[in-house]
Amino acid sequence: MSDIKMVDLGRQLKPIKSDINAAIQGVLEASNFIQGKPVRVFEKNMAAWLGIKHVVSCANGTDALQLAFMALDLQPGDEVIVPTFTYVATAEVIALLGLKPIMVDVYEDTFNINLEEASYLISDRTKAIVPVHLYGQSSDMEAIMKFASTHSLYVVEDTAQAIGAEVTFSDGSQRMAGTIGNIGTTSFFPSKNLGCYGDGGAIFTNDDNLASQLKMIANHGQRVKYSHDVVGVNSRLDTLQAAVLDVKLKHLNTYCESRQKAANFYDVALSSIDGITIPFRSSFSTHVFHQYTIKVDPKYSRDNLKQYLAKNGIPSMIYYPIPLHEQKAYNVFTDEALEFPIATSLCNRVLSLPMHTHLQKEELKFIVKHIKNFFNS
Ligand SMILES: *Cc1c(COP(=O)(O)O)cnc(C)c1O
Repeated sequence: MSDIKMVDLGRQLKPIKSDINAAIQGVLEASNFIQGKPVRVFEKNMAAWLGIKHVVSCANGTDALQLAFMALDLQPGDEVIVPTFTYVATAEVIALLGLKPIMVDVYEDTFNINLEEASYLISDRTKAIVPVHLYGQSSDMEAIMKFASTHSLYVVEDTAQAIGAEVTFSDGSQRMAGTIGNIGTTSFFPSKNLGCYGDGGAIFTNDDNLASQLKMIANHGQRVKYSHDVVGVNSRLDTLQAAVLDVKLKHLNTYCESRQKAANFYDVALSSIDGITIPFRSSFSTHVFHQYTIKVDPKYSRDNLKQYLAKNGIPSMIYYPIPLHEQKAYNVFTDEALEFPIATSLCNRVLSLPMHTHLQKEELKFIVKHIKNFFNS
């Protein structure tokens, strides 16, 4: 058996290689590397795929978050609620803009922001909440939108890990994760569910004014060339990356299904193991499995399992080993007396298994066999 990888982009490339090559050649020949036609084409196609009015592309997923907070025109000292169990980018841009990230514990089942905990931390400076749809599992967006409306908060969905997750509301209507709040953001980092061959990101909104603000801010704060209305940034998606993304977008449904199939295989094989909790499947959304993340009962030691798998040629990863509120750069934003028991405990229990669009059955069987061996020994 060839190498098992956490993410296998080489295998994913093979069947689309000629389309990717043609797309890249097209950009080279047109030589319009910045804001070329493929950028607008991809934005339009992505908007149609998501069922949203505006997709504004930018340089990466971290910039997408920064642009979102800049467009919402928050004032220094304003507070933004974020989960403490997330990738650092979520809180980083908030702190950079002079806003205050208010870190909140998460739910044990979805790994997503805990609204009961958030409600204790609301103040009159709280202006926004950032649900991060971790590992591909959407937050409970109906509850989030209700909470936001009660407390007059903007909602910025960090959808870097959940592009394609479909949320179902109690009235039966369905919408894609990232298209429900005021703004949704995503990343096209190569290993994300829709990844390019470098850095890339995008922002989603149905609000015409926000879309126009976002475009202006991402382009040096100008609507008309050399006329700068606000202090902006330079954050663009390369034409080459847009051309690559437009090819891969056509396969995104298939990619989501492949991940779900691999996850179903893991679920069936691992659910009977006493020391493992398989990922939660919510009734309010589909899961697109950016990661397949199990929880290991502490009495079996997650770290020993990780080592055992590594010895047998199986990679696994810990996303994330340290919550934000324990990070040196971010603990200044939180009251020492506050506790985050679920996130703290999850950091010691979570383990992400190999998950990508081209996992083979033999590989899944091999991985599962070794996990079972570990628990039986
Ligand atoms: C990847 C990621 C980001 C940042 O995206 P970049 O493109 O790497 O800047 C932000 N939030 C989450 C949850 C992510 O997983």
